[in-house]
Amino acid sequence: MSAITNHMPTKELQALDAAHHIHPFTDSKELTAAGARIITRAKGVTITDSEGHDILDAMSGLWCVGVGYGRQELVDAAARQMQELPFYNTFFMTSHVPAIALSAKLAELAPDNINHVFFTGSGSEANDTNIRLVRHYWAAKGKPTKTTLIARKNGYHGSTLGGGSLGGMAPMHTQGCPVIPGIHHIDQPHWWAEGGDMTPEAFGLERARQLEAAILELGEDNVAAFIGEPVQGAGGVIIPPSTYWPEIQRICDKYEILLIADEVITGFGRTGNWFGSQTFGIRPDIITIAKTLTSGYIPMGGSLVSDEIANTLAEAGDFNHGYTYSGHPVAAAVALENLRIIEEEQLVERVREDVGPYLAAKWKTLLDHPLVGEANSVGLMATLALTPDKASRAKFKGPEGAVGLRCRTRCFANGLVMRHVGDRMIIAPPFVITHAEIDTLITRARKSLDETYESLIKDGLFVSA
Ligand code: PMP
Repeated sequence: MSAITNHMPTKELQALDAAHHIHPFTDSKELTAAGARIITRAKGVTITDSEGHDILDAMSGLWCVGVGYGRQELVDAAARQMQELPFYNTFFMTSHVPAIALSAKLAELAPDNINHVFFTGSGSEANDTNIRLVRHYWAAKGKPTKTTLIARKNGYHGSTLGGGSLGGMAPMHTQGCPVIPGIHHIDQPHWWAEGGDMTPEAFGLERARQLEAAILELGEDNVAAFIGEPVQGAGGVIIPPSTYWPEIQRICDKYEILLIADEVITGFGRTGNWFGSQTFGIRPDIITIAKTLTSGYIPMGGSLVSDEIANTLAEAGDFNHGYTYSGHPVAAAVALENLRIIEEEQLVERVREDVGPYLAAKWKTLLDHPLVGEANSVGLMATLALTPDKASRAKFKGPEGAVGLRCRTRCFANGLVMRHVGDRMIIAPPFVITHAEIDTLITRARKSLDETYESLIKDGLFVSA
């Protein structure tokens, strides 16, 4: 077989891909019929496909390319580390400079009570780690019955058995991932879809108080931790009502429940602070990290852990847990360089004070579109709710997500990556996006919304369920 390069005809690449490559979260039949979009290179906020189309990537890859594509500094950091020490493990009393330096850097950036990190290869592995960590912690504290973790429906915490179980995605649970024992789900704070006639504030309180009810039902002595994303990302960029997180925090404090903030998406600047926990006033005991930690240039995740937990574990002997790539030196070197760029270019401040507010103002203008019932954002993550009836927040007649999919297809055709979750449209562009690029994003989004609307009218589908 000849070498497979970017220069092969797209059709041949698509055929090989469909023949041999099982894709995540993809319908193989659809893939075979339509052929994958093949991305060949990227620069800044723009990706280019094998047909030469330039597409504005308003999803930062998969919420990760904070510093943008094509950063030579990250390439150099990886190359230097590969030459010096391409791999060594951190098991059995060994360490290396990149893992040490990154641990210290993360301790500096994390909230004051958090000064320790356990490294993993991904966000899923970090959440699996969290399950074991909190149970091990409570056992070490002499409370071995505290084993249950409470999570939310429509939360996303990864795709391993542990992460998938913590997540509240029913379509995952029905495919070989039944929720493992010791995990309990409560409802999500999704006012638009589930708030009915309540005010967002009252609804936020009501949903948070489900945590209290669950703790009382399960028994305080049996509950180890609550886990939530400060803003649900994969669930559709669900920005909770302002009352939600303070009430969750109060309940966790009252019942001595550890609070895990899954910041795989919200970490490292996405919401305009280093951590989404700071944006929402959360005081977590554990923070899950991945994605923007390395801007996605190389896989890495981890669990940031409070002093209280780390000190307790330190007294408890071996922690019988770890991954070959925990603290991988090349990944750690890239993460360090990525964090240096974020600091030096003041990208967190840029999101908070400049491009975040600029995007918010432009995004809100989409509210006048006949399809758009909600246009919300925090920092550089934003969401649109598509609806046939804004006043009643109605769903479309027909299968959920069909309209969102139409819109996403129009976006791709118009040179924009905007993802759909059901009939919500979501974006999370790189932190380096400029005002002019945000203008382009909005123009392409509006054009795509127009085309979606016209096609729905034409097909008689602009109708409530
Ligand atoms: N937690 C959250 C909040 C996520 O958004 C994701 C990935 N989208 C994960 C965990 C899982 O991370 P990974 O895909 O790196 O395993």
